[in-house]
Amino acid sequence: MKVLVVNTGSSSLKYQLMDVQNESVLAKGNVDRIGAKQPVLEHEPAGLDEVKIPCNAKDHTEAMKLVIDTLIHPDYGVIKNMDEISAVGHRALHGSDKILESVIVNDEVKAILRENFELGPLHNPANLMGIEACEEVMPNTPMVAVFDTAFHQTMPPEAYTYALPYEDYEKYAIRRYGFHGTSHRYVTRRLHELLGIPEEGTKVITCHLGNGSSISAIKDGKCVDTSMGLTPLEGVPMGTRCGSIDPAIVTCLMEKKGFSPEEMSEYMNKQSGVLGLSGVSSDFRDLHTAAEQGNKRAALALDVFNYSVRKYIGAYAAAMDGVDYIVFTAGIGENTPSVREGICKGLSFLGVEISEEKNNKIVAGNGIEGKISTDNSKVGVYIIPTNEELMIARDTVELLNLNDR
Ligand code: ADP
Repeated sequence: MKVLVVNTGSSSLKYQLMDVQNESVLAKGNVDRIGAKQPVLEHEPAGLDEVKIPCNAKDHTEAMKLVIDTLIHPDYGVIKNMDEISAVGHRALHGSDKILESVIVNDEVKAILRENFELGPLHNPANLMGIEACEEVMPNTPMVAVFDTAFHQTMPPEAYTYALPYEDYEKYAIRRYGFHGTSHRYVTRRLHELLGIPEEGTKVITCHLGNGSSISAIKDGKCVDTSMGLTPLEGVPMGTRCGSIDPAIVTCLMEKKGFSPEEMSEYMNKQSGVLGLSGVSSDFRDLHTAAEQGNKRAALALDVFNYSVRKYIGAYAAAMDGVDYIVFTAGIGENTPSVREGICKGLSFLGVEISEEKNNKIVAGNGIEGKISTDNSKVGVYIIPTNEELMIARDTVELLNLNDR
């Protein structure tokens, strides 16, 4: 049985066709620059060479048609016809407090996506376009939407409420929502699977460290706090996002630099983070190279990042009255021993002790998972590569009862 996982951005459509029986990827790819000059479809069929197909996709529906044509293509396709696709699982961003778990797509779900355009201005419209494109191209195929915010909906009010006049929470729904929920949920499930223990009774801190980074506190398998907020700007510093700063800085800089709200937003989202701090790059690989060559600002950016993640871990241990496991995932979390070491070295008060040898071994970023803490460590520290597409495919199968068919 095959499930197509779709992840749409404003001008891109990523896809992965999975055989859910053995959870293998049959093909994956991306249509980039939809609606712009010379869009390209990059298609990677399992076991065959990657193909790059210049195309003329003017919108997401045309891009979706092209993806289907590619998947059934006689030379580089991986299925004979579209009917082999049992269902589509969509990644969706913002479901506000209306979406508590993955859902079968219907008019109500589409209306919720639309209602939340303001909270997810870049992603929600694109997610809806992706769903409508699939409805047009494959009208009889059932669909599921898996929201990035859903996993965090179990947070208690004291964790999601900002200390602003309460009427504005009621009027504008301004509160913490959190993001990367599918990733935090996947690595939490996988950790318990690896350990062979139930989720009840455990306290876990998951660190999704990539271009965007977020930390979550997870008690009994449920999220009780997370570092991203109303938008993905809050929390630790990221590639180009500033993370949490004194809110007075916003009005101060708007006055000093004469920024409009849009310019201020661009400054905090695109020009800040480790890029703004270092002046070198948003990519941690470049930062390490620069720091090794003596670039002080690159070294400072790395220190600021590690220190901030460490503070969140300390805070979340307090939020849960302890921590049993810490999990690192995503591009940086999976691949960068020095960051993991930099974060963990100040956590001895919690009983965290990582093995230098094990920590340095797990760098490959090719699905390697495992424990990096010593046997004496009071807290188990693990690396678990994230797999949001697999989580989406699993939810799709479960919600549609595809296994029973
Ligand atoms: P996104 O949030 O866009 O999915 P990723 O999770 O891929 O981003 O994370 C991107 C970050 O991870 C970059 O800073 C990059 O330096 C780092 N990274 C990704 N892959 C590797 C690798 N193989 N080795 C070292 N660092 C990596």
